[in-house]
Amino acid sequence: MAFPFHLDLLVGRRLVALDLIVVNLQSEVRLSPHKTGLWCKWLSCGIGKLFSCFLLVKKVCKSCGLNLNQHDSRDEPIFFVMSVVGFVIIILEMSVKLSYEPAYWVYLAVWVPVILISTIGLLRPIKGIIIGLQYKYWVNQNFEN
Ligand SMILES: [Zn+2]
Repeated sequence: MAFPFHLDLLVGRRLVALDLIVVNLQSEVRLSPHKTGLWCKWLSCGIGKLFSCFLLVKKVCKSCGLNLNQHDSRDEPIFFVMSVVGFVIIILEMSVKLSYEPAYWVYLAVWVPVILISTIGLLRPIKGIIIGLQYKYWVNQNFEN
């Protein structure tokens, strides 16, 4: 958890303002990894964006300072999205084929864009959820420096 903290200190005759963010990485993760992952937010504070590029995870959160240098989701998001989208598309395609028997060009015109859009659209949220679950359950092993 991250707590923003503001201090006004009188040092000698000067007033010094300090803005601090107190981070407790040992505390229990209270944010849902599903919610933060789905919205591609940071798992520890839920504020900043998790990705700097399409699937490139930022190394350090600017809000809470959590370091995700050690994260490793490997091929899990791609495998999960491929399995789910493939299963759903096959069921839909077979039901359309058995019901309407459309021409072959209809398959190309309909299913290729549906597959591309659903696969690319699901990759970021699924990767965010997997990283969130990794952080929640292995916070003391893999995410500390
Ligand atoms: Zn953060």
